[in-house]
Amino acid sequence: MNNVPPLTAAKRTNIQALVARAWAVEHPALTMAETAALKATIKRQLHEQNAVLVAHYYVDGALQDLADESGGCVSDSLEMARFGYHHEASSVIVAGVRFMGETAKILSPQKRILMVESQAECSLDLACPADEFATFCDAHPERTVVVYANTSAAVKARADWVVTSSIALKVIQHLHEKGKKIIWAPDKYLGDYVQRISGADMLLWQASCVVHEQFKSAALRGLMKQKPAAKVLVHPESPPEVIALADVVGSTSQIIAAAKNLDATEFIVATESGIFHKMKQAAPNKKFLEAPTAGKGATCESCEMCPWMKMNDLQRLNNVLSVGNNEINIAPAIREQAARSIRRMVEFGRG
Ligand code: SF4
Repeated sequence: MNNVPPLTAAKRTNIQALVARAWAVEHPALTMAETAALKATIKRQLHEQNAVLVAHYYVDGALQDLADESGGCVSDSLEMARFGYHHEASSVIVAGVRFMGETAKILSPQKRILMVESQAECSLDLACPADEFATFCDAHPERTVVVYANTSAAVKARADWVVTSSIALKVIQHLHEKGKKIIWAPDKYLGDYVQRISGADMLLWQASCVVHEQFKSAALRGLMKQKPAAKVLVHPESPPEVIALADVVGSTSQIIAAAKNLDATEFIVATESGIFHKMKQAAPNKKFLEAPTAGKGATCESCEMCPWMKMNDLQRLNNVLSVGNNEINIAPAIREQAARSIRRMVEFGRG
């Protein structure tokens, strides 16, 4: 069923080079007094510029706290964009990766959208260039094109639907029931997960998340034996053998909700480690353990951390507010097409 070619060696090398560049970025350590002073300056600048800070669950805890304290939000990519859209601020500052800034701009074209870090990429987005994807879609005109939120504005514009991990399965089931055949991009593991459950006819683009693909099922089984009472929470960008061991498979928001609501005191969590900050706030009396990765034997430098999410820091945020750079702009035709695909998901979610 799958006739999408695997990632080329050149693409893999390029992604690894960008990962290395992201980890090479220095983040000078701040004292508590310096952090407090910087946060005060940023809050003043946000207020003076009628700007609001939206942060993803995977960025540094200090940025998450600042977003909460300054009246912004900490959430997943779609909720970040929705929050920015509904907020009265004329500028939205995005602490996350580039596709999140683009999604915010797609929904709020009249607003100024600034990225804390303009070089913050996502391996899923990088592995799905718009021109190659369009060529593939053109070769299968009978198929409905569904793309994950972790894509560029141009890829979203080529799609019929944009989905997040929280709604992907429902949308695919809906399309399958209507007899549609599907092209899915870019995450192969999430695509495989929804394909296995829905039984839909799907061609899967072959990209993966550099963080989630590192979780290892054999080591996870070992940890589960040591912690038999712990519930296992897994993001569906993880490999299928890891997903198979989960008590709950879900998006970042669904994993946090599960940690809060499930009747367990200990959890093993397979997703980016930035999420622990919000989880501990949501369920302060519970214990959270990182699911095992390939660790020291792996090619990743720090396996549970996204190199691009970790580029975001307070100093960069302060600099962006001072200079006004890192603005997201999208050609109107692409923006309008991408907005149509996102709106379809939002309306489906409401229905
Ligand atoms: S954690 Fe993975 S999916 Fe999320 S931004 Fe980083 S590379 Fe992309």
